[in-house]
Amino acid sequence: MRYKKLGKTGLKVSEMGFGALQFARLAPKQAVSLVKEAHDRGINLIDTAHNYPHSEHLLGKAIRGIRDQLIICTKSYHTDRKEFLNQLDSSLLRLGTDYIDIFMCHDLSRSQKYEKLVQNGVLDALLAQKKRGKIRHIGFSCHSPDIIDKYDQFPDFSAILMPVNFVSVEFTQPLVYKRLVRNHIGIMGMKPLGGGRIGDVGLALRYIQQFPQVIPVIGTECVNELDQNIKHMNDRRPMSSGDWKKIAEIRKRLGPKFCRGCRYCMPCPQGLNIYEFNFTKVYYGQLSIDQFLDPQRTRELEKLDQCTRCGRCEEKCPYNLKIMDLMRQNSDFYMQKLKQHRAN
Ligand code: SF4
Ligand code: SF4
Repeated sequence: MRYKKLGKTGLKVSEMGFGALQFARLAPKQAVSLVKEAHDRGINLIDTAHNYPHSEHLLGKAIRGIRDQLIICTKSYHTDRKEFLNQLDSSLLRLGTDYIDIFMCHDLSRSQKYEKLVQNGVLDALLAQKKRGKIRHIGFSCHSPDIIDKYDQFPDFSAILMPVNFVSVEFTQPLVYKRLVRNHIGIMGMKPLGGGRIGDVGLALRYIQQFPQVIPVIGTECVNELDQNIKHMNDRRPMSSGDWKKIAEIRKRLGPKFCRGCRYCMPCPQGLNIYEFNFTKVYYGQLSIDQFLDPQRTRELEKLDQCTRCGRCEEKCPYNLKIMDLMRQNSDFYMQKLKQHRAN
């Protein structure tokens, strides 16, 4: 494993990070052992968040005895000072540690949220916690580069978690990427596989290697995947014209408006699994027809009529997607495949 300096944090991090968002999909033992396997292979940067289901709890168990060898990044969604500080303390408790290496304001993609954090004293509180040693570095995660201007107003900002992949290129355009590098901001790249839209992991990681300051944070569900990802990271071949052709085809197929799987739109007050709807076509391309037409998925997608069209999901989507329309399209697609399968 190679290591790089993460911008002005000065932290020496492995050239790929471990994303712990997907722990809810794993058995607890599996999640804990996966972190240990990642550590054994030299990965030292782990990304989680207070609101990733089960993630901090399981991570806390996994890092016992090796905490000082790891760099932990976690985040709080809150804009209220008291709630924010409570969440920081709760993260420390869950992780079984007395400091967080990088503490981030979660999804700071809109300037209104930044203004709220300033007005409510959250940024001052972050600085105070840094002085007390509970936080070592302060960062933000975001889904829109429009917010980058605001960050310049906060000199203690030293790390960012932002989408870096070849289907969401907003952040890798020179104006954004070069500016972050110039300001020595440590860049962690989320969604290296486009939130599940990019199947060719090798191509995805070689694309990211064109941006040497980016540390991709990769969600992994098993040791085999972990080893494959490391193997792909070690492939230093430059991009070929064939690679660019493939990328152009994938971009064309997806268009600009597609679900990245961040789940910020959830929970739905009606209990609808919005993510499950929006990923229907991705699953169709990845699974066998029997796996795809799983009875559990059918039950989820049949719930669409329970949507009251309250619009709360659309307010929360950082990509401004028309979620209700997308859910309808995906549900129709699924039901059509189900009907065809039953007819055969
Ligand atoms: S619009 Fe429908 S899917 Fe979205 S939050 Fe409201 S009930 Fe849930
Ligand atoms: S609909 Fe929007 S908020 Fe929900 S998972 Fe997709 S991209 Fe994220």
